[in-house]
Amino acid sequence: MKIIVTGGAGFIGSALIKYLIETTDYKVINIDKLTYAGNLNSLESVSKNKNYDFKRTDICDQKNINKIINDFKPDKIINLAAESHVDRSIDGPADFITTNILGTYNLLEESRNYWNKLDSKDKKDNFRFYHISTDEVYGDISHTKNKANEKNQYDPSSPYSASKAAADHLVRAWYKTFQVPTIISNCSNNYGPFQFPEKLIPLTILNAIEGKDLPIYGDGLQVRDWIYVNDHVEAIVKILEKGKIGETYNIGGNNETKNIEIVKLICLILDEIKPSSIEGIKKYSELITYVKDRAGHDRRYALQIKKINNELEWSPHESLKTGIRKTIEWYLNNLDWCNKVKGKNYSGERLGLL
Ligand code: NAD
Repeated sequence: MKIIVTGGAGFIGSALIKYLIETTDYKVINIDKLTYAGNLNSLESVSKNKNYDFKRTDICDQKNINKIINDFKPDKIINLAAESHVDRSIDGPADFITTNILGTYNLLEESRNYWNKLDSKDKKDNFRFYHISTDEVYGDISHTKNKANEKNQYDPSSPYSASKAAADHLVRAWYKTFQVPTIISNCSNNYGPFQFPEKLIPLTILNAIEGKDLPIYGDGLQVRDWIYVNDHVEAIVKILEKGKIGETYNIGGNNETKNIEIVKLICLILDEIKPSSIEGIKKYSELITYVKDRAGHDRRYALQIKKINNELEWSPHESLKTGIRKTIEWYLNNLDWCNKVKGKNYSGERLGLL
């Protein structure tokens, strides 16, 4: 099987590609523009594998995308390329509109043209355009005790989530109008190794060991569901192989937690495995600092995952405690990677909460 993965140099895309190359015989082309968030260092372990190839390309670049698709003739295209940081979308929404909406549109059109020309029914039936999306499209669900299911109305709050919502609508329209065989999944907050150090969990780990403030937005009581990145990757592969065309699947970790609790958990584990040697700081939690809340900050996201559980027999394995511990250990052992990627337009003052 031949797969194009877009955004494969990012956090989730690189984990997906490593999984595909290391555990299957699939041939994979990674299409990535290498923005500040894209790092080929994350793919070192597979970069020389004969089943892996990389093309530095913008998903908005119609000519190049057309050429790659028609030369490679993929069975599946998985779209992870995106601008993904909410704070950045508030500072400057333009790139989010371009990549997340127009880029998805370009991939859909090129997929449609390619799919229309496929010469056998088998090839047409097997082809998938699989779009990776987020729980943020459902907006704030703090008014209800329920978790969001796949039928929840879209109600995005930030330029990031609005651009992802727009892309989801385009994907569904290309299925309904043109019959392009598409699938969407909406996932909750991912964490794990190789996440760009601007996002909440790596930022907290790295700031703590450097004795810097651990910024918490507002009262820190915003609730997010957290999923270990490898659980997400396994869900993606399951959906790719067994998911139904035209459907949407929620993917979550069953770990609804307040932001402040995540930060305190990281501090506690760090106190145990790397006690503070910072002058005047006995416990890392002393570094916690409350900062002005983010504009339009949603209070709660949470996903119901009954559908993927019942229909595809997938459920997450990693508990938050074990996953966070593994993640902390990985960052402590990979400070070189962090320093390498931090050079790229890093903004350590931000507190990212994708
Ligand atoms: P990321 O920011 O780590 O990686 C995004 C990748 O896309 C980078 O390698 C970047 O170089 C590439 N990219 C950006 N613009 C591009 C363009 N125009 N053309 C080609 N490549 C481009 O993001 P991530 O956390 O790995 O997220 C991947 C996908 O999963 C995104 O679509 C995101 O919306 C979605 N998602 C992420 C999370 C999460 O918690 N991280 C949760 C749910 C859904």
